[in-house]
Amino acid sequence: MSQIHNFCAGPCLLPEVVYQQAAQALIDFDGSGMSILSISHRSSAFLAVLDEVSHLALDLLGLDKGDYDVLFLQGGASMEFLRIPYNMLSTKAGYINTGVWASKAIEQAHQFGQVKITASSENNEFKSIPKGIVETSSLDYLHFTSNNTIYGTQFDYVPQANCPIVCDMSSDIYSRVFDYNKIDVIYAGAQKNIGPAGLSVVFIRKGVLNNKVRFIPNMLNYQEHISKGSLYHTANVFAIYTTLLNLRWLKSLGGVEAIEKVNIKKAATLYEAIDSLDFVRGIAESDSRSKMNVTFDFVHSSIDKLFDEMCVEAGIKNIRGHRTLGGYRASLYNALPLNSVTALVEVLREVKHKI
Ligand code: PMP
Repeated sequence: MSQIHNFCAGPCLLPEVVYQQAAQALIDFDGSGMSILSISHRSSAFLAVLDEVSHLALDLLGLDKGDYDVLFLQGGASMEFLRIPYNMLSTKAGYINTGVWASKAIEQAHQFGQVKITASSENNEFKSIPKGIVETSSLDYLHFTSNNTIYGTQFDYVPQANCPIVCDMSSDIYSRVFDYNKIDVIYAGAQKNIGPAGLSVVFIRKGVLNNKVRFIPNMLNYQEHISKGSLYHTANVFAIYTTLLNLRWLKSLGGVEAIEKVNIKKAATLYEAIDSLDFVRGIAESDSRSKMNVTFDFVHSSIDKLFDEMCVEAGIKNIRGHRTLGGYRASLYNALPLNSVTALVEVLREVKHKI
């Protein structure tokens, strides 16, 4: 079979070696004679997985175990939209509105207290990132979304505030060097650069939770999950194990510093093509462009059909834009090889000869 180039925005491609190791563990986990699907989340074998993945998850971001707790929870990033204000919003929180996912987080926060929109790119149809944010008012926390998966925009800095900073890093965690240490709560749905869907990973700086904020049901209570070491209830054993395999892969490559170099090259290759071809338009503003999700459309929508057909022929999959935005979106997460990007660029260049 010829190579498939899978640009899916999530759940996305994981490294081939991770698929192989995960497949093997489905049959026989670590020579135990049992499937990873059939071992207890409280077994010593799984506790070892949880311990290793917790250390790796922190280490790869340069975070210290003494400073942060890490949780492996279920419900995806959308559950954290709810858990964050439940646990942290007593009076007023600040949110930066950079699109659909940020808006969904804001919607949940409104149920718990006042929300100040510190900055927004709504007037610009979310095609840009607000610059130089410094929030000086007294807030319970300030929330931002580091990478906006739908529009293809990305923060290149951590906003400043004199309150805890909370960040949804679902679509760019582990993709780059960043000031992770300046963020007090980092959360992400796993299904991009972490592992399979069905898991969210949350990093919480010690001491940042205010448990007197309100009564919090156990499943939504971060402190409860911390005190139970992510084992308040049955953990997503398979997703956590596959996450371990994926983070081991990242470490073997040289960590986020090494993968960032590859990610820069992939994004530069595609943006160069977009900028040099007069029938293609980048959707995000140049100074706000994401290295994970590259959005574009064509000057004439009549080109779509030709491009779609050529993508099918070239094995290019899952490149249509999000249903709310249209156009196209190439997601270039960690496991996507550079040759998939060059295959896409070749198709774009060929289109030029056919229109
Ligand atoms: N935040 C961002 C930035 C996302 O890209 C997504 C999903 N693509 C979400 C939140 C929602 O994640 P989930 O589907 O895991 O709830």
